[in-house]
Amino acid sequence: MNVADRIDIDVETEASSSCGTPSHWGFAFKLPAWLGFLDSDHFPSGRGEVLNLPVKSRASRWFPFIFLHFFALLALFHKPSPFAICLAVFLYFFRMFAITAFFHRYFSHRTFKTSRAAQFLFAFWGGLAVQRGALWWASHHRNHHRYSDRDGDIHSPIKSGFIWSHIGWITADCNMPTRYEIIGDFSRYPELVFLNRFDWLPPLFLGLALYGLGCFLELHYPSLSTSGNELVLWGFFVSTVVLFHGVCSINSLSHIWGSRPYRTDDSSKNNFLLALITLGEGWHNNHHRCPGSVRQGFFWWEVDMTYYFLRLYRALGLVWDLHPVPAAVREERLFPEPSRVRS
Ligand SMILES: [Zn+2]
Ligand SMILES: [Zn+2]
Repeated sequence: MNVADRIDIDVETEASSSCGTPSHWGFAFKLPAWLGFLDSDHFPSGRGEVLNLPVKSRASRWFPFIFLHFFALLALFHKPSPFAICLAVFLYFFRMFAITAFFHRYFSHRTFKTSRAAQFLFAFWGGLAVQRGALWWASHHRNHHRYSDRDGDIHSPIKSGFIWSHIGWITADCNMPTRYEIIGDFSRYPELVFLNRFDWLPPLFLGLALYGLGCFLELHYPSLSTSGNELVLWGFFVSTVVLFHGVCSINSLSHIWGSRPYRTDDSSKNNFLLALITLGEGWHNNHHRCPGSVRQGFFWWEVDMTYYFLRLYRALGLVWDLHPVPAAVREERLFPEPSRVRS
C-alpha cells in the first residue's frame, strides 16, 4: 500500500488522538463494578495498562472459541432438517456480507457513505456475526493496514505464524480493548459506542430469535421437522463457527496463498477460492494496493459479490459515494514491471 492510500486513515487517527478517555468517546454510561464483565470497555486495571501488556495468548481467552466449537461439533451428531441446513447457509452469507460490506469496507475504510440510522443498523447487523463490535473490529483492522506484515501488525502470518494470525491474536489481553484513538471518526457516535461496548447484544438477539423461530415452526409447521434447539445448533453455532474461520482466513491464508498482481509492501495475495467464500474479500492483494476502493475485485472476472450488492444498495438509495478504484492503479498489473505506474 502506498502512502496516499494510508492518509484517509491517519488523518482520522490524528484528529482523535486528543481524546484520551472513554468518556470522550460518546457514551460514558457505566455499569456497577460487579456487572463490569458485560461491558467490553471495562478494564479494572486500566485500559492503558491492558494495551501495554506483552503480546501473549491467555489460556482463558480460548474458552469462548472452545465453547462455540464444542456446540458446533455437537450439532454434527444431530441429523439436521433441510430447513436447518438452508438457514445455516443463509446466515453464513447474510453475516459474511455484513462483515465485508460494513465492518470492513465501511467502518474500517469508509469506501462509501450512508446515513447515521443506516450505519447503526449496519453495525448491529455485523454484530450478529459474533466477531465483537464494529469499532473494535475496524480499529484493529486499520492497525493491520498501517503495519501490514511488519512489526506492529497484530495478525501477520509472516511475522507471527499461521495460528496466531488466524485466531491466536484474539486471545491476547492487549488486543481486547477497542483502539478508539484509531477510530475517532466513528467513536463520536454514542449509539455505535453503546453497541461496541455491549457487543453481546446482537448475538443474544440472534440466538433467541432462532430458538423462537424453531419453536414456532415446530408447533405450526411440523412437516419441516425442525425445532428451537436445532435452529440454535445449526443456525447459530455451526454457521457462526464456519463464518468465523471464513473471515479469519483473510487474516491468515490471504497473506500466504495466492497470486500477487500488484506490488505492495506486504505479502497480501489474491485468491479466487477465498474470494468466493468471503464474498469478494479474497482479492486481498488488490485491497492492500488500494484499500480506499469499495470494490476488491478490480476486473469483471474477479468475482466480488459484496460490491455487486453494494451497487444494488446504491440503486435503492441506502448508500452513496462508492469510491472507485483509480484507473491508473487498476491498470498497473496490465503493464510489464518496469513501466508500472507507481504513486
Ligand atoms: Zn491484509
Ligand atoms: Zn482492509
